[in-house]
Amino acid sequence: MTPAAGKSPPSVDFPSARRALPVQYLTSKPADPALWGWIYTLHLHTPLGRGGRNGARHYTGWASEYGLLDRLLCHRAGHGAAMMAFCASAGIGWHVGALQRGTRTDERKLKQHGAAPRCWTCQAMKGR
Ligand SMILES: [Zn+2]
Repeated sequence: MTPAAGKSPPSVDFPSARRALPVQYLTSKPADPALWGWIYTLHLHTPLGRGGRNGARHYTGWASEYGLLDRLLCHRAGHGAAMMAFCASAGIGWHVGALQRGTRTDERKLKQHGAAPRCWTCQAMKGR
């Protein structure tokens, strides 16, 4: 995936770049495999709305076990969510800020909280 022209991801030094980024398991795998998947948090390179604390900087969604890449490509093409369609049309770049394993129920619970605490980029840039 290439970032939108003219937009580059924020420069972040991950001191632990040689290690795999942590993937948190929110629940144990349910008996029905169709319920199990990925919860992804997308970190936008430009906040939407008013910016600052009140600007939307993340989008969180759910993808099935084998559907993550398709889902991300779908967002890149501007489909699947109004917010990501807007980003595609406005040329706002983004990257995956967090990946977690869980169900759609876990996703709904996560969406009740701010995304910054679970976003690797926001955590790495904290205090800068
Ligand atoms: Zn973030």
